[in-house]
Amino acid sequence: MHRLFINIAPLTTMQLPVMAEVFYAKNVDHILEFFNKLEKGVKPIILGGGSNLIISPEIKNRPILKMEIMGIEIISNERDFVLIKLGAGENWDNFVSRACATNLSGIEAMSAIPGTVGATPVQNVGAYGQEVKDTILNVEVFDIEDKKIKILTNVDCKFSYRDSIFKNEGKNKFVIISVTFKLLKQFPEIPKYVDVKKYFIENNINNPSLIQIRDAIINIRHTKLPDPKIIFNTGSFFKNPIIDKNEALKIKESYLDMPSFTVISNANIENKSSNSIYEQVKIPAGWLIEKVGMKGYDFGKVATYKNNAIVLINKGDASYQDIINAKDKIIASVYEKFGITLETEPEFVN
Ligand SMILES: Cc1cc2nc3c(=O)[nH]c(=O)nc-3n(C[C@H](O)[C@H](O)[C@H](O)COP(=O)(O)OP(=O)(O)OC[C@H]3O[C@@H](n4cnc5c(N)ncnc54)[C@H](O)[C@@H]3O)c2cc1C
Repeated sequence: MHRLFINIAPLTTMQLPVMAEVFYAKNVDHILEFFNKLEKGVKPIILGGGSNLIISPEIKNRPILKMEIMGIEIISNERDFVLIKLGAGENWDNFVSRACATNLSGIEAMSAIPGTVGATPVQNVGAYGQEVKDTILNVEVFDIEDKKIKILTNVDCKFSYRDSIFKNEGKNKFVIISVTFKLLKQFPEIPKYVDVKKYFIENNINNPSLIQIRDAIINIRHTKLPDPKIIFNTGSFFKNPIIDKNEALKIKESYLDMPSFTVISNANIENKSSNSIYEQVKIPAGWLIEKVGMKGYDFGKVATYKNNAIVLINKGDASYQDIINAKDKIIASVYEKFGITLETEPEFVN
């Protein structure tokens, strides 16, 4: 297996300098070889496209397993749907592009999300009303403990908002080898977002095709998210907080312009029975950050993006610590003003 001791900055979209040993896995034998040779007690880092990772230079002796397993296979082609299996190393957006071009629906709203197919189940990637959990049939994994290949069904993956088994009990346990998706031949629902509707009106498109939906999403995203090849970033740096409806109403008394979206969920908050269903409210993190005066804010080597406060940018030579400092300042400012603790979306590895 190919291995290199390198600065991994170019393997991640935040481009933070970190020296590490990288092993390139192009097939399952490489994964097996990697774990067979791994010293006891050493925790490796699994790397896809590095678009959701903030890696500390302190990782020292932790080796990196860079997932490069390729391959696209049609498992089944039925009247209403197609089952497609993809290697973990395949580029996610290439897959979305091919699906749209062949009129297969279910992932078109998740166009232009950087990274690999194998990473999409990890945080249940989502955008514009779609989440991968709604099209994933199963996930093929390498179980690090018993070194066997297993299939996890959609239910086994325990998907929820930006979360799955792979971020919890499955962390450091599974390497995702491939993902099988069920894409539909029927036309999808058009994303019910103001920006999307506006785009179709402005472009005189009444009945958009899948490709036109994809184009709309790509165009809209370009206005809000910087291209990580030009401006180093990890997309949304903070999750949109979901808070109790009454808490949101209290904030709204002082901030009439606060956008909020109702979320119906099963309660698991104190004082609520675990089976009851009640309303929570999702608040855009970008709005909260803007309200504390930190949209387009310059922290020195790090800044928030001028068009979208939820994006944190490495201006060029930022360090891991610079990112941590900026993140902590934003979280503290939002907490001070609104009593809401923002959570980060990318994973911190140290
Ligand atoms: C400009 C920009 C826009 C973005 N927009 C969105 C968006 O709209 N919605 C969204 O959900 N995300 C978004 N993201 C975040 C990111 O692109 C996704 O989370 C993506 O799925 C990460 O893929 P990756 O291959 O880069 O994963 P990495 O960053 O390499 O890894 C992410 C996590 O997955 C694990 N992992 C990766 N591959 C495997 C594997 N094969 N087996 C086991 N674990 C693995 C890693 O260990 C890590 O924990 C955006 C990022 C950027 C830079």
